[in-house]
Amino acid sequence: MELRVLPVEASQKKPIPTDDAKLGFGRVFSDHMFQMEYSTAKGWHNARIEPYHELSLDPACTVLHYGQEAFEGLKAYRGDQDGIFLFRHRDNLRRMNASCRRLVMPEIDIDFVSDALKKLVLLDRDWIPRSPGCALYIRPNIIGVDPFLGVKPAESFIFYIIVGPVGAYYPEGFNPVSIWVSDRYVRAVRGGIGEAKTGGNYAASLLAQKEAKQKGFSQVLWLDAIHRKYIEEVGTMNIFFMFDDEVATSPLDGSILPGITRDSVIQILRKWGVPVVERKFSIDEVISAQKSGALKEVFGTGTAAIISPVATIHYQGHNYTVADGKTGPLSQRLYDFLLDIQYGRKPDPFGWVERID
Ligand SMILES: *Cc1c(COP(=O)(O)O)cnc(C)c1O
Repeated sequence: MELRVLPVEASQKKPIPTDDAKLGFGRVFSDHMFQMEYSTAKGWHNARIEPYHELSLDPACTVLHYGQEAFEGLKAYRGDQDGIFLFRHRDNLRRMNASCRRLVMPEIDIDFVSDALKKLVLLDRDWIPRSPGCALYIRPNIIGVDPFLGVKPAESFIFYIIVGPVGAYYPEGFNPVSIWVSDRYVRAVRGGIGEAKTGGNYAASLLAQKEAKQKGFSQVLWLDAIHRKYIEEVGTMNIFFMFDDEVATSPLDGSILPGITRDSVIQILRKWGVPVVERKFSIDEVISAQKSGALKEVFGTGTAAIISPVATIHYQGHNYTVADGKTGPLSQRLYDFLLDIQYGRKPDPFGWVERID
């Protein structure tokens, strides 16, 4: 398939934000986007990078009623000497294909889309912020667009990628967060769509997230849907607990999103010789470890924050403080290491980082 590039006219270019401190997350998008369409007859076709534009959709189309869609989230980093770096981006595209299989959508060609993604990032390279911790966020999305209300998998799809500058997740420094353990709502159950990166999981989480925010907590910690006791993950992050010298995270057994940051952290800890296990553990185990002093650190992992230390866990009316409410040394070391390799400041012993210019 050919990739056409239709650049925006100079007079139509949007102003690039100049104050990186005000960027926030996901509000500003660059001048261009990648798009292609799928039909049963033609497969993926009409691939192009063109000016950022609104989509025109039939009001009956599949995604708007039955949520047939999947997305990804990754970043391009501007490092020293203006180098532009991607982190494990092919793993994001592989995971998108796994989500597509689960949601009965056509897979994308990883080589082709990887190439298109790099061309898009380089075309809009002036949009990649320079301040520390800032990056260009990349959002691939695939949606079913049959103009038909019957419940069945769509036969026509749109895949697109939009990009935009995002601010540092911790503008005032590396700040631990507080999390609310939900014992009322559940996010996903084995056999459902919890391991796919799809909008439906987020729709299911919004009410719990709203209630947690109202109570002053920044994220929800989900328990398993059957026993309501095993730790699963946080709103947009996987989660790790350090019990004495051992780090534990929940196994990928069908209801948890297989985070790329999660996998990276496991591999880094193994390389550092820090014991790390994927095993089931319950909220009761966490609380008794907190009471006995065995719970040393808790941190979330995900592309947005990279590492997010947890200061407080709220469960059934009680607040439990972790690491004296501060950032623990392991969280800090992981954060520094990951950012150093993502911005090309330190050698990457894993082969995860690719310089694209
Ligand atoms: C995207 C996501 C994560 C984190 O995945 P990364 O690949 O590390 O960014 C974790 N949990 C959920 C529910 C997610 O959607």
